[in-house]
Amino acid sequence: MKILVLNSGSSSIKFQVIEKPNDLILASGLVEKIGLSEGAIHYKAGDYQHTVHIPVPDHQFGLEKVAILLLDKEHGVLKDVKDIEVVGHRVVHGGNAFTKTTFITDKVKDKIKELFDLAPLHNPPNLTGIEVAEEMFAHAKQVAVFDTSFHQSLPEKAYTYAIPLSLRDEKNIRMYGFHGISHQYVSEQAIAMLGKTESKIITIHLGNGCSMTAVENGKSVDHSLGFGPNDGLVMGTRCGAIDSSIIFYLINQLGYTSENVNNILSKKSGMLGLTGESDLRAIEAKAEAGDKECQLALDINAYRIKKTIGSYAASMNGLDAIVFTAGIGENSDVIRRMACDNLDYLGIELDLEKNAVRSKEHRDISKEGSKVRIFVIPTNEELGIASEGYRLATES
Ligand code: ADP
Repeated sequence: MKILVLNSGSSSIKFQVIEKPNDLILASGLVEKIGLSEGAIHYKAGDYQHTVHIPVPDHQFGLEKVAILLLDKEHGVLKDVKDIEVVGHRVVHGGNAFTKTTFITDKVKDKIKELFDLAPLHNPPNLTGIEVAEEMFAHAKQVAVFDTSFHQSLPEKAYTYAIPLSLRDEKNIRMYGFHGISHQYVSEQAIAMLGKTESKIITIHLGNGCSMTAVENGKSVDHSLGFGPNDGLVMGTRCGAIDSSIIFYLINQLGYTSENVNNILSKKSGMLGLTGESDLRAIEAKAEAGDKECQLALDINAYRIKKTIGSYAASMNGLDAIVFTAGIGENSDVIRRMACDNLDYLGIELDLEKNAVRSKEHRDISKEGSKVRIFVIPTNEELGIASEGYRLATES
C-alpha cells in the first residue's frame, strides 16, 4: 500500500511516499517558502535528487507540483494519483477530542478548526493541507495523526495544573503535550529492542524543540511540554520551564508588552538567549574552545534533562531504558554524556566509547551490565504517521 505522508506548516509542506508494510520510502521532499517571492521544491526518489526554485503562492499550488513530480514518467513513483491509498496528515493539536488516529470527516475538520485557538500557528496550515489533499487525492482515505494524542493517556494527576478547576473544565487549560508521534515511534522501537511491552522507558526528544516522556507499558504517563510548546527542557530558542512571576515582573515592573514577552520567551531565549547561538554544534565548538557562557548553557541544558530523568524514574518507580532521539539526541555525544553523567545511583551507566560512535542506526550505548539500557533511536515521524495510517486503513 502506498501512503502519502504530509506535514503542512504555515510556509512549508514536507512529504513522503511510503510503501507499507515494508516501510520503503519511495519519494520524499519539501516545498518551502510558500507565499514568499522565492519558493523552492526539493524532491528525492531513490538516487534522483532535484530542486526547483519557483514562487509557490499557496499550498494548493505546492501540492499540485508535488503530484506532478510524483507522477513524472522518468523520476516519479506513481502511475496514477489513485496509487495513493492513504494520505496521512500530521495535525499538531487534537485537544481533548482526539485520543487516537482518525479518518478525516467533516466533523473531524470542524473540530480541528475549533482547536485553532490552542494551536494558532499549526492547526490552520494542517487543515489547509487536508483540504487540498482531499481534492487532489479524492479517492484516498484521509487520516489525521495528532501530535497530542499519544499523551491523551496521561493520568489526571499528571495533566492537571493546580489552577482553579473551572479553568480546566470550561476553558480547557491543561497539559496536552507535543512531539507525540516521535515519542510514540521511538518508544515502540525501544520496546522492540527490550523485547517486552511491560516496560518503563523515558524518551528524550532533543531537536529545536525538546521534550521528554515517561512511557509505562507503551503509554505516555508523564511529559515535559504542557498547554503549549514552551515548558520543561531548555530548547533552541524557547526557555522551557520558568517561574510565571518573571512574566508579570517583565510586564508590570519593566513595562514589556505581552507580545514582547512572548517573543522573548519563545524566540530569543533557550540556547540562543544563553549564548547568542541556537545551533548546538556551534555552542559545543565554542565551549570546547573555552567559552564559559557556552559551557554554562550546555550545563543548564543537560542538568534539566538529568533532573527530569530522575523525576520520571520516581513517577514510574523504575526504569528499563532511556532513549535519545532527534537532531541533538541522535548526534550530540556531548549532551548525552552530560545528561547521563553521575546517574549510576539510578542504574544508568553510559559506555563512553559506544556513545562517541556516530551512526544512523538504532543502538545501545549503555555499559555492559548497566541496569538501565541507554538507546539512541533516530526518530522517524513520517514512518510513524504512515504506520498509523496503515493500521487504521487495514483494520477497518
Ligand atoms: P527540528 O526540531 O527542527 O526537527 P532537529 O531534530 O533537526 O530539529 O534538530 C536540530 C538540532 O540538532 C540543532 O540544534 C542542531 O544543532 C542539532 N544537531 C544536529 N546535528 C548535530 C551534531 N552533529 N552535534 C550536535 N548537535 C547537532
